[in-house]
Amino acid sequence: MLLWLWVCPMDDILELGLIDLETWCLARGLKKFTATQVFQWLYQKKVTSFAEMTNVAKQARAVLSEHFIVGHLEITERYHSTQDGSTKFLMKLVDGRTVESVLMPQKGRLTLCVSSQVGCAMGCTFCKTAEMKLVRNLTTAEILGQLIGAQRESEQRISNVVMMGMGEPLHNYEAVIQAVNRMTDPKALQMSNRKVTVSTVGLAPEIERFGLDTRVKLALSLNATHEAGRLEVMPVTRKYPLDEVLAACKKYTTLTKHRVTLEYVMMAGVNDTPEDHKRLARIASVFPCKINLIPYNPFPGSPYQRPAESSIMDFHKYLADRHFQVNIRYSKGLDIMGACGQLATR
Ligand code: SAH
Repeated sequence: MLLWLWVCPMDDILELGLIDLETWCLARGLKKFTATQVFQWLYQKKVTSFAEMTNVAKQARAVLSEHFIVGHLEITERYHSTQDGSTKFLMKLVDGRTVESVLMPQKGRLTLCVSSQVGCAMGCTFCKTAEMKLVRNLTTAEILGQLIGAQRESEQRISNVVMMGMGEPLHNYEAVIQAVNRMTDPKALQMSNRKVTVSTVGLAPEIERFGLDTRVKLALSLNATHEAGRLEVMPVTRKYPLDEVLAACKKYTTLTKHRVTLEYVMMAGVNDTPEDHKRLARIASVFPCKINLIPYNPFPGSPYQRPAESSIMDFHKYLADRHFQVNIRYSKGLDIMGACGQLATR
Protein backbone atom coordinates (compact mmCIF):
# COMPACT_ATOMS: atom_id res chain seq x y z
CA MET A 1 0.00 0.00 0.00
CA LEU A 2 1.75 3.08 -1.21
CA LEU A 3 -1.09 5.34 -0.30
CA TRP A 4 1.24 7.88 1.27
CA LEU A 5 2.56 8.73 -2.18
CA TRP A 6 -0.91 9.95 -3.04
CA VAL A 7 -1.41 12.04 0.03
CA CYS A 8 -1.18 15.62 -1.06
CA PRO A 9 -0.16 18.34 1.39
CA MET A 10 -2.74 19.20 4.03
CA ASP A 11 -4.80 16.14 3.47
CA ASP A 12 -7.01 15.09 6.34
CA ILE A 13 -5.24 12.64 8.62
CA LEU A 14 -8.52 10.75 9.10
CA GLU A 15 -8.18 9.55 5.49
CA LEU A 16 -5.35 7.20 6.46
CA GLY A 17 -5.64 3.76 7.97
CA LEU A 18 -3.08 2.66 10.55
CA ILE A 19 -0.87 0.78 8.11
CA ASP A 20 -0.85 3.70 5.69
CA LEU A 21 0.06 6.09 8.47
CA GLU A 22 2.85 3.79 9.67
CA THR A 23 4.22 3.63 6.13
CA TRP A 24 4.01 7.39 5.86
CA CYS A 25 5.80 7.89 9.20
CA LEU A 26 8.62 5.50 8.26
CA ALA A 27 9.08 7.22 4.90
CA ARG A 28 9.48 10.56 6.70
CA GLY A 29 12.03 9.18 9.16
CA LEU A 30 9.54 9.06 12.01
CA LYS A 31 9.08 6.10 14.33
CA LYS A 32 6.49 3.54 13.33
CA PHE A 33 4.77 3.67 16.74
CA THR A 34 4.09 7.37 16.21
CA ALA A 35 1.20 6.19 14.04
CA THR A 36 -0.31 4.16 16.90
CA GLN A 37 0.03 7.13 19.24
CA VAL A 38 -1.60 9.46 16.75
CA PHE A 39 -4.43 6.96 16.28
CA GLN A 40 -5.08 6.90 20.01
CA TRP A 41 -5.31 10.68 20.14
CA LEU A 42 -7.55 10.87 17.10
CA TYR A 43 -9.95 8.06 17.78
CA GLN A 44 -9.93 7.52 21.53
CA LYS A 45 -9.23 10.99 22.90
CA LYS A 46 -10.78 12.70 19.87
CA VAL A 47 -8.48 15.71 19.87
CA THR A 48 -8.69 18.35 17.16
CA SER A 49 -5.01 19.27 16.76
CA PHE A 50 -1.55 17.75 16.71
CA ALA A 51 -0.53 20.16 19.48
CA GLU A 52 -2.71 18.22 21.93
CA MET A 53 -0.89 14.95 21.20
CA THR A 54 1.48 15.49 24.09
CA ASN A 55 3.20 12.10 24.14
CA VAL A 56 4.13 12.34 20.45
CA ALA A 57 7.65 13.70 19.87
CA LYS A 58 7.66 17.44 19.17
CA GLN A 59 9.51 16.98 15.91
CA ALA A 60 7.03 14.33 14.78
CA ARG A 61 4.13 16.64 15.55
CA ALA A 62 5.79 19.36 13.51
CA VAL A 63 6.24 17.07 10.49
CA LEU A 64 2.69 15.80 10.77
CA SER A 65 1.16 19.25 11.00
CA GLU A 66 3.12 20.36 7.94
CA HIS A 67 1.35 17.69 5.91
CA PHE A 68 -2.01 17.04 7.50
CA ILE A 69 -4.94 18.73 9.07
CA VAL A 70 -6.86 17.01 11.87
CA GLY A 71 -10.21 17.08 10.23
CA HIS A 72 -13.29 17.89 12.14
CA LEU A 73 -16.66 18.92 10.89
CA GLU A 74 -18.07 22.09 12.30
CA ILE A 75 -21.49 21.54 13.81
CA THR A 76 -23.41 24.61 12.73
CA GLU A 77 -26.91 23.72 13.91
CA ARG A 78 -28.43 21.43 16.50
CA TYR A 79 -32.12 20.54 16.51
CA HIS A 80 -33.41 18.75 19.59
CA SER A 81 -36.56 16.70 19.38
CA THR A 82 -38.85 17.35 22.31
CA GLN A 83 -40.73 14.14 21.50
CA ASP A 84 -38.05 11.50 21.71
CA GLY A 85 -34.74 13.06 22.77
CA SER A 86 -33.07 12.74 19.37
CA THR A 87 -30.81 15.48 18.01
CA LYS A 88 -30.19 16.40 14.40
CA PHE A 89 -26.81 17.98 13.64
CA LEU A 90 -26.09 20.09 10.62
CA MET A 91 -22.39 19.64 9.90
CA LYS A 92 -20.36 21.91 7.66
CA LEU A 93 -17.80 20.47 5.24
CA VAL A 94 -14.64 22.25 4.05
CA ASP A 95 -16.30 23.35 0.81
CA GLY A 96 -19.17 24.95 2.72
CA ARG A 97 -21.65 22.21 1.89
CA THR A 98 -23.54 20.60 4.73
CA VAL A 99 -24.69 17.13 5.75
CA GLU A 100 -26.99 15.93 8.47
CA SER A 101 -26.45 13.30 11.15
CA VAL A 102 -29.04 12.25 13.71
CA LEU A 103 -28.28 11.05 17.24
CA MET A 104 -30.94 8.78 18.70
CA PRO A 105 -31.09 7.62 22.30
CA GLN A 106 -32.80 4.27 22.77
CA LYS A 107 -33.03 1.86 25.65
CA GLY A 108 -29.46 0.92 26.53
CA ARG A 109 -27.91 2.34 23.40
CA LEU A 110 -27.10 5.51 21.56
CA THR A 111 -27.27 5.35 17.77
CA LEU A 112 -25.91 7.82 15.23
CA CYS A 113 -27.41 7.92 11.77
CA VAL A 114 -24.56 8.90 9.43
CA SER A 115 -24.60 10.34 5.89
CA SER A 116 -22.46 8.97 3.06
CA GLN A 117 -23.06 11.57 0.33
CA VAL A 118 -24.23 15.14 -0.08
CA GLY A 119 -27.55 14.44 -1.77
CA CYS A 120 -28.22 11.14 -3.54
CA ALA A 121 -28.44 9.88 -7.10
CA MET A 122 -30.88 7.04 -6.52
CA GLY A 123 -34.11 9.00 -6.98
CA CYS A 124 -36.40 7.02 -4.67
CA THR A 125 -39.79 8.71 -4.93
CA PHE A 126 -40.53 8.57 -1.19
CA CYS A 127 -37.28 10.12 0.02
CA LYS A 128 -36.59 13.80 0.59
CA THR A 129 -32.83 13.50 0.00
CA ALA A 130 -33.53 12.38 -3.58
CA GLU A 131 -34.82 15.88 -4.39
CA MET A 132 -31.26 17.20 -3.95
CA LYS A 133 -29.82 14.83 -6.58
CA LEU A 134 -26.21 13.84 -6.01
CA VAL A 135 -23.97 16.78 -5.14
CA ARG A 136 -20.86 14.82 -4.18
CA ASN A 137 -19.46 11.85 -2.31
CA LEU A 138 -18.21 12.28 1.23
CA THR A 139 -14.62 11.33 1.96
CA THR A 140 -13.72 8.72 4.57
CA ALA A 141 -12.62 11.60 6.82
CA GLU A 142 -15.98 13.33 6.46
CA ILE A 143 -17.90 10.14 7.27
CA LEU A 144 -15.77 9.49 10.35
CA GLY A 145 -15.88 13.20 11.20
CA GLN A 146 -19.65 13.01 11.73
CA LEU A 147 -19.21 10.29 14.33
CA ILE A 148 -16.27 11.91 16.09
CA GLY A 149 -18.05 15.28 16.05
CA ALA A 150 -21.28 13.88 17.48
CA GLN A 151 -19.36 11.91 20.10
CA ARG A 152 -17.67 15.09 21.31
CA GLU A 153 -21.12 16.50 22.00
CA SER A 154 -22.35 13.56 24.00
CA GLU A 155 -21.29 12.29 27.42
CA GLN A 156 -22.72 8.88 26.69
CA ARG A 157 -20.73 6.69 24.29
CA ILE A 158 -22.26 6.28 20.84
CA SER A 159 -22.74 2.51 20.72
CA ASN A 160 -24.33 2.03 17.28
CA VAL A 161 -23.96 3.50 13.82
CA VAL A 162 -26.43 3.18 10.97
CA MET A 163 -25.36 4.42 7.55
CA MET A 164 -28.90 5.54 6.83
CA GLY A 165 -28.47 9.28 6.53
CA MET A 166 -28.19 11.19 3.29
CA GLY A 167 -26.84 9.28 0.31
CA GLU A 168 -26.45 5.74 -0.97
CA PRO A 169 -23.49 4.22 0.93
CA LEU A 170 -22.65 1.58 -1.66
CA HIS A 171 -22.58 4.26 -4.37
CA ASN A 172 -19.60 5.70 -2.46
CA TYR A 173 -18.20 2.26 -1.86
CA GLU A 174 -14.46 2.73 -1.16
CA ALA A 175 -14.86 5.65 1.25
CA VAL A 176 -17.68 3.92 3.13
CA ILE A 177 -15.81 0.62 3.50
CA GLN A 178 -12.75 2.43 4.83
CA ALA A 179 -14.88 4.44 7.24
CA VAL A 180 -16.86 1.51 8.68
CA ASN A 181 -13.70 -0.57 9.00
CA ARG A 182 -12.10 2.31 10.92
CA MET A 183 -15.16 2.47 13.19
CA THR A 184 -14.68 -1.18 14.12
CA ASP A 185 -10.85 -1.22 14.14
CA PRO A 186 -9.67 -2.09 17.70
CA LYS A 187 -6.88 0.49 17.18
CA ALA A 188 -9.34 3.18 16.09
CA LEU A 189 -12.98 3.62 17.17
CA GLN A 190 -13.38 0.13 18.67
CA MET A 191 -17.04 -0.38 17.82
CA SER A 192 -18.53 -3.82 17.54
CA ASN A 193 -19.09 -5.12 13.98
CA ARG A 194 -22.60 -6.07 15.05
CA LYS A 195 -23.38 -2.47 15.94
CA VAL A 196 -22.53 -0.87 12.62
CA THR A 197 -25.07 -1.25 9.80
CA VAL A 198 -24.81 -0.13 6.19
CA SER A 199 -28.13 0.31 4.41
CA THR A 200 -28.45 0.10 0.63
CA VAL A 201 -31.05 0.51 -2.09
CA GLY A 202 -29.62 -2.70 -3.51
CA LEU A 203 -26.58 -2.23 -5.74
CA ALA A 204 -26.16 -5.93 -6.51
CA PRO A 205 -22.44 -6.08 -7.43
CA GLU A 206 -21.46 -4.03 -4.37
CA ILE A 207 -23.57 -6.21 -2.07
CA GLU A 208 -21.48 -9.18 -3.14
CA ARG A 209 -18.21 -7.32 -2.59
CA PHE A 210 -19.40 -6.00 0.75
CA GLY A 211 -19.22 -9.41 2.43
CA LEU A 212 -15.58 -9.73 1.42
CA ASP A 213 -14.48 -6.25 2.45
CA THR A 214 -16.01 -5.76 5.88
CA ARG A 215 -17.66 -7.59 8.78
CA VAL A 216 -20.25 -4.93 9.60
CA LYS A 217 -23.92 -5.59 8.97
CA LEU A 218 -26.00 -5.06 5.84
CA ALA A 219 -29.53 -3.76 5.47
CA LEU A 220 -31.51 -3.78 2.23
CA SER A 221 -34.18 -1.17 1.63
CA LEU A 222 -36.71 -3.45 -0.01
CA ASN A 223 -39.82 -1.26 0.07
CA ALA A 224 -41.79 -3.31 -2.48
CA THR A 225 -42.59 -6.97 -2.97
CA HIS A 226 -42.69 -7.21 -6.75
CA GLU A 227 -40.70 -5.89 -9.69
CA ALA A 228 -43.24 -3.41 -11.08
CA GLY A 229 -44.01 -2.00 -7.66
CA ARG A 230 -40.37 -1.53 -6.83
CA LEU A 231 -39.63 0.05 -10.17
CA GLU A 232 -42.28 2.64 -9.44
CA VAL A 233 -40.77 3.82 -6.15
CA MET A 234 -37.10 2.91 -6.63
CA PRO A 235 -35.77 3.69 -10.13
CA VAL A 236 -32.55 1.80 -9.34
CA THR A 237 -34.64 -1.33 -10.01
CA ARG A 238 -34.24 -0.64 -13.73
CA LYS A 239 -30.52 -1.27 -13.38
CA TYR A 240 -30.71 -4.02 -10.77
CA PRO A 241 -33.95 -6.02 -10.95
CA LEU A 242 -35.33 -7.27 -7.66
CA ASP A 243 -34.36 -10.90 -8.37
CA GLU A 244 -30.76 -9.89 -8.96
CA VAL A 245 -30.65 -7.91 -5.72
CA LEU A 246 -32.15 -10.78 -3.73
CA ALA A 247 -29.69 -13.23 -5.32
CA ALA A 248 -26.83 -10.95 -4.25
CA CYS A 249 -28.21 -10.85 -0.69
CA LYS A 250 -28.45 -14.61 -0.65
CA LYS A 251 -24.82 -14.92 -1.72
CA TYR A 252 -23.89 -12.40 0.96
CA THR A 253 -25.60 -14.40 3.71
CA THR A 254 -23.99 -17.65 2.52
CA LEU A 255 -20.56 -16.08 2.48
CA THR A 256 -20.75 -14.19 5.78
CA LYS A 257 -23.27 -16.24 7.75
CA HIS A 258 -24.82 -12.88 8.63
CA ARG A 259 -28.48 -12.07 8.32
CA VAL A 260 -29.64 -9.17 6.19
CA THR A 261 -32.07 -6.65 7.63
CA LEU A 262 -34.92 -5.98 5.20
CA GLU A 263 -36.26 -2.47 5.59
CA TYR A 264 -39.76 -1.89 4.36
CA VAL A 265 -41.13 1.63 4.28
CA MET A 266 -44.89 1.27 4.51
CA MET A 267 -46.87 3.58 2.23
CA ALA A 268 -50.67 3.57 2.40
CA GLY A 269 -52.27 1.83 -0.55
CA VAL A 270 -48.92 1.39 -2.27
CA ASN A 271 -47.23 -1.57 -0.62
CA ASP A 272 -49.42 -2.61 2.34
CA THR A 273 -51.96 -4.90 0.67
CA PRO A 274 -52.65 -8.53 1.67
CA GLU A 275 -50.79 -9.61 -1.50
CA ASP A 276 -47.77 -7.71 -0.21
CA HIS A 277 -47.95 -9.64 3.07
CA LYS A 278 -47.70 -12.92 1.18
CA ARG A 279 -45.00 -11.79 -1.22
CA LEU A 280 -42.86 -10.31 1.56
CA ALA A 281 -43.12 -13.58 3.47
CA ARG A 282 -41.95 -15.40 0.36
CA ILE A 283 -38.99 -13.05 -0.13
CA ALA A 284 -38.01 -13.32 3.53
CA SER A 285 -37.87 -17.10 3.22
CA VAL A 286 -35.10 -17.03 0.62
CA PHE A 287 -32.22 -16.12 2.96
CA PRO A 288 -31.67 -15.47 6.69
CA CYS A 289 -33.07 -12.05 7.49
CA LYS A 290 -35.07 -9.93 9.84
CA ILE A 291 -37.69 -7.42 8.77
CA ASN A 292 -38.10 -3.82 9.89
CA LEU A 293 -41.44 -2.27 8.97
CA ILE A 294 -40.96 1.51 8.83
CA PRO A 295 -44.17 3.57 8.76
CA TYR A 296 -43.73 6.23 6.09
CA ASN A 297 -42.55 9.65 7.27
CA PRO A 298 -44.10 12.47 5.28
CA PHE A 299 -42.35 15.72 4.40
CA PRO A 300 -43.73 18.89 2.78
CA GLY A 301 -44.87 18.01 -0.72
CA SER A 302 -44.35 14.28 -0.27
CA PRO A 303 -46.54 12.09 -2.43
CA TYR A 304 -47.45 9.28 -0.01
CA GLN A 305 -49.24 8.72 3.24
CA ARG A 306 -48.49 6.69 6.29
CA PRO A 307 -50.85 3.69 6.54
CA ALA A 308 -53.40 3.50 9.33
CA GLU A 309 -52.09 1.93 12.52
CA SER A 310 -54.33 -1.10 11.91
CA SER A 311 -52.71 -1.75 8.53
CA ILE A 312 -49.25 -1.59 10.12
CA MET A 313 -50.36 -4.02 12.82
CA ASP A 314 -51.92 -6.41 10.27
CA PHE A 315 -48.69 -6.59 8.30
CA HIS A 316 -46.70 -7.18 11.48
CA LYS A 317 -49.07 -9.87 12.68
CA TYR A 318 -49.05 -11.73 9.36
CA LEU A 319 -45.26 -12.00 9.45
CA ALA A 320 -44.92 -12.61 13.20
CA ASP A 321 -47.52 -15.41 13.03
CA ARG A 322 -45.32 -17.10 10.45
CA HIS A 323 -42.31 -16.84 12.75
CA PHE A 324 -40.40 -14.18 10.87
CA GLN A 325 -38.40 -11.85 13.03
CA VAL A 326 -40.20 -8.59 12.44
CA ASN A 327 -40.17 -5.20 14.14
CA ILE A 328 -42.06 -1.99 13.60
CA ARG A 329 -39.58 0.85 13.56
CA TYR A 330 -41.13 4.17 14.36
CA SER A 331 -38.58 6.73 13.22
CA LYS A 332 -37.12 9.18 15.67
CA GLY A 333 -36.79 12.89 15.11
CA LEU A 334 -40.02 13.36 13.16
CA ASP A 335 -40.61 16.80 14.68
CA ILE A 336 -37.15 18.03 13.64
CA MET A 337 -37.28 16.61 10.09
CA GLY A 338 -34.63 14.17 11.23
CA ALA A 339 -36.49 10.94 10.55
CA CYS A 340 -35.80 8.38 7.82
CA GLY A 341 -36.26 9.94 4.42
CA GLN A 342 -36.54 13.51 5.71
CA LEU A 343 -32.91 14.59 5.48
CA ALA A 344 -31.95 17.26 2.98
CA THR A 345 -29.82 20.37 3.08
CA ARG A 346 -29.65 23.39 0.85
N1 SAH B 1 -29.64 4.92 0.54
C1 SAH B 1 -29.71 4.05 1.67
C2 SAH B 1 -29.65 4.75 3.01
C3 SAH B 1 -30.54 5.96 3.22
S1 SAH B 1 -32.26 5.79 3.58
C4 SAH B 1 -30.93 3.18 1.60
O1 SAH B 1 -31.81 3.47 0.81
O2 SAH B 1 -31.00 2.20 2.30
C5 SAH B 1 -32.44 4.92 5.03
C6 SAH B 1 -33.82 4.27 5.14
O3 SAH B 1 -34.89 5.22 5.21
C7 SAH B 1 -34.13 3.38 3.96
O4 SAH B 1 -34.55 2.13 4.40
C8 SAH B 1 -35.25 4.09 3.26
O5 SAH B 1 -36.06 3.20 2.57
C9 SAH B 1 -35.95 4.78 4.41
N2 SAH B 1 -36.76 5.93 3.99
C10 SAH B 1 -36.54 6.77 2.97
N3 SAH B 1 -37.52 7.69 2.90
C11 SAH B 1 -38.39 7.43 3.91
C12 SAH B 1 -39.60 8.04 4.37
N4 SAH B 1 -40.08 9.12 3.78
N5 SAH B 1 -40.21 7.49 5.44
C13 SAH B 1 -39.69 6.43 6.08
N6 SAH B 1 -38.55 5.82 5.69
C14 SAH B 1 -37.91 6.31 4.62
